[in-house]
Amino acid sequence: MYRKLLFELGREGRKGHILPRCDVPEKPIGEVIPVQHLRENPADLPQVAENEVVRHYTALSTMNHHVDKSFYPLGSCTMKYNPKINEKLAGIPAFSQLHPDQNLSQVQGALQILYELQEYLKSITGMDAVTLQPAAGSQGELVGLLLMQRYHKAKRENRSIILIPDSAHGTNPASAAISGYKIETLKSNNRGVVDLNDLKAKISRDVAGLMLTNPNTLGIFDHQVKEIKDILESVDALFYMDGANMNALFGIVRPGDMGFDVMHLNLHKSFSTPHGGGGPGSGPVAVNKKLMDYLPRPTVKFDGNKYYFDDMDDQSIGRVHSFFGNFSLLLRAYIYIRMVGAYGFSKISEHAIVNANYLYEKLKNRYRLGFESRTMHEFVLSAEKQKEKGGKAMDIAKRLLDFGIHPPTVYFPIIVKEAMMIEPTETESKEMLDYFADAMIQIDDEINEDAEKLHQAPYTTPVRRLDEVAAARNLNINYFYSNK
Ligand SMILES: *Cc1c(COP(=O)(O)O)cnc(C)c1O
Repeated sequence: MYRKLLFELGREGRKGHILPRCDVPEKPIGEVIPVQHLRENPADLPQVAENEVVRHYTALSTMNHHVDKSFYPLGSCTMKYNPKINEKLAGIPAFSQLHPDQNLSQVQGALQILYELQEYLKSITGMDAVTLQPAAGSQGELVGLLLMQRYHKAKRENRSIILIPDSAHGTNPASAAISGYKIETLKSNNRGVVDLNDLKAKISRDVAGLMLTNPNTLGIFDHQVKEIKDILESVDALFYMDGANMNALFGIVRPGDMGFDVMHLNLHKSFSTPHGGGGPGSGPVAVNKKLMDYLPRPTVKFDGNKYYFDDMDDQSIGRVHSFFGNFSLLLRAYIYIRMVGAYGFSKISEHAIVNANYLYEKLKNRYRLGFESRTMHEFVLSAEKQKEKGGKAMDIAKRLLDFGIHPPTVYFPIIVKEAMMIEPTETESKEMLDYFADAMIQIDDEINEDAEKLHQAPYTTPVRRLDEVAAARNLNINYFYSNK
């Protein structure tokens, strides 16, 4: 399906407004704007009426899948519905028109929000201090690793190894490599959790820390946190929790109480700020007392009377974001926390876990389970049986699009063959879960009848099956260029 671009829709002189006639003497433009700032040729912008613009973007917004349109069970990504009140409040000019360099006395309200958000995140995680600066979960990981480096350096130790289980999120080894560490992979046992014998074999005073995604990418909660912590403590190694899966833990258990030293949160996952499409994210890092002094500065402080920024400290790893992080996302997360409240937060995880386990039960007879263990807020199916009959995980994913559903994460985690990682989140109704399960079962029936049909899917989307490799290798997003 081809839609005309705004440039093609435009007609010379068409516009979306009428201004009153000028009733003051007109000045030459060069007197209003300094000549050196004037452009030589007018910008080549499409000339369109307001209704054309609105219809154009409304139509575009329905061509892609998004969470306002339908179910989005993309494992690991927590694509929960984002309440519109977040957007409404974040859009009010008192927030959206603030300048980050404004005098602190004029922005006390904004600082109060940052301060209280730090406090809420401390109490949600059970940690002692928080930085709001990191702009993504993965940047949070990098911050955590730099904090670890500082910690060991302060003890005049040079440690070179980070231990990472094979069930960790892929950003963990990437962040460890970027911060200069050597990575040693820990095996999972047959229950899908860390193999403690492998950990015991690999622990040494060369280990700076261990990064545990918990629940891990199989959706399994590693119940051995205490044992792992004891092993790490015996060599003074630090314990990092990848907290992107906090949607499974709210109100049930706190990382600080479990003995983690440092963790990140993904506000754009568990705290309902929008994500996807590479837009801004927010990955605050929370630490215990061991690492507090090394946090990025500034953080927001309160002296009982006014809010202010603390100064850069020699021990701090420094700034990791301009100004204070992505303020508008921090604001949305703050609104969400205030709206949901402490009781609501425990319900988030309960419902997320029940929803995932409901689907697990409905699908386990048709699809092989990645691991037998009970899961938390997400679970992994394997399409191995289906592949033998000619329908791979990718074919199933593409066919789901015809049902108006975003596919699960596929081929990840890599320790499960033909993996399909399903995370329904807490915001979906039983009817929607049933619709998804029925679609998955119908697709399995289709594979039994005529697997070839799946190879052509999707049939009903604006574009059919894309060559994803070519699209990434020969990136061409320039209309004028591609038109030549
Ligand atoms: C999403 C995710 C990350 C990375 O977070 P980004 O904000 O995408 O950088 C890390 N770990 C886990 C478990 C995740 O789900």
